[in-house]
Amino acid sequence: MSQLDSMDKLVSLTKRRGYVFQSSEIYGGTGSVWDYGPLGIELKRNIKEAWWSAMVHQRDDVEGIEAAILMHPRVWEASGHVDGFTDPLVECKVCKKRFRADELEGARCGRKPSKAPGAFKACELGEPRLFNLMFKTFMGPVEEAAATVYLRPETAQGSYVNFLNVQTTARQKVPFGVAQIGKAFRNEITPGNFIFRTREFEQAEMQFFVTPGTDEEWFEHWRDARMDFHTGTLGIRAESLRFSEHGPDELAHYAKRAVDIQYEFPIGWKELEGIHNRTDFDLDRHQQYSGKKMRYVEPGGGGRYIPYVVETAAGVDRMLLMVLSDAYYEQDMGRDRRTVLGIHPRLAPVKAAIFPLVRKDGLPEIATRLHDAFKAAAVPSFYDAAGSIGRRYRRQDEAGTPWCVTVDGRTNEDGTVTVRDRDTLEQVRVNADGVIDYLRERLAR
Ligand code: ATP
Repeated sequence: MSQLDSMDKLVSLTKRRGYVFQSSEIYGGTGSVWDYGPLGIELKRNIKEAWWSAMVHQRDDVEGIEAAILMHPRVWEASGHVDGFTDPLVECKVCKKRFRADELEGARCGRKPSKAPGAFKACELGEPRLFNLMFKTFMGPVEEAAATVYLRPETAQGSYVNFLNVQTTARQKVPFGVAQIGKAFRNEITPGNFIFRTREFEQAEMQFFVTPGTDEEWFEHWRDARMDFHTGTLGIRAESLRFSEHGPDELAHYAKRAVDIQYEFPIGWKELEGIHNRTDFDLDRHQQYSGKKMRYVEPGGGGRYIPYVVETAAGVDRMLLMVLSDAYYEQDMGRDRRTVLGIHPRLAPVKAAIFPLVRKDGLPEIATRLHDAFKAAAVPSFYDAAGSIGRRYRRQDEAGTPWCVTVDGRTNEDGTVTVRDRDTLEQVRVNADGVIDYLRERLAR
């Protein structure tokens, strides 16, 4: 468990350091939509690149695609989303506050002192209604029912409808997978908890097509591979992650088996990623609704069949929230405390901060030249000459920068700089000319 005991601390730190801002803040904000600032977007890109590398580049049997957000409306009939992608909504007739009927337990009324929904005498909860979570819009100039299209609530369907396009053009044989990273939209009734549940979010999903009968084996493979990714590649503490198997009554209509990977967020153990055995449900439905064959034909005129699908479905924003939560700690330093984001150096937005110790004796010029060398080598770095060295260190600790490189009086004498490690606070002298290689070697560990 990380040291982060409340989400509020993370909300204020990430705003202060330019990770996450409320969307349209100057207008009072938009409900459960967030913007990523300069450091947030770098962290997000690094997480996505790590996922893409593990899922696509480091394998022969997964191809990447990018399907459009807008799809033919029949896709969402075939997938079951038009009829079934609903949450039961109850509204208080007095306060007009809405709740998920299946989550009333634990929910609190908006009135003060806050009670359970409907607990005040004056309040009255209506009957539950089913509320579809898909955002609708219109295609073309006329706003009529026939022109209704949806903002996709998941990326998976774009991979199913392209199954044969990818298989034939990439000359893949079953088993193989299709991976996507992209935006998804859900008009959640009770969003919140910062970027944990939002109405616009990003997914990193992979659909793995297999011969029926081999699905259970592949399910285990992907379940383990995904856990290894979080602990190994993202560097998350293993004790803060666990599997949670769906019981028979929790399984989605399309699923034969489902396991969630949960992380212990400051709000408790919550789903980070789902691994699902979706059987041949989706391809079969698209075959029925489109009238096009969705069958795989084995090479050499072998069998023809609709493959089964094992899906891995993770939220990028949730992975980012996990990385930040896991990295956060506060440390007593004697006279003061420091707050640190101990993000794995591979994922850290900025790898090194470069400081001249004082603004004289030619130190800013040397530090600027060093900063130029970092830019030329495409190692993200940040130049800072403002304030005491102690304050500059604290700012970088909070921003999650793994190393601070200080140019000082000795640099003029022997060409060395100080490299300070964020986590161990150890300081070593390194030749200024070799400092990029020194950090690169550590980044590769
Ligand atoms: P939940 O039960 O939490 O609504 P789900 O089981 O419907 O989620 P999936 O459809 O399996 O979620 O989506 C895959 C992943 O996408 C989730 O594990 C989560 O990381 C992410 N995700 C889903 N909905 C949201 C959301 N509203 N905001 C942020 N991430 C989300």
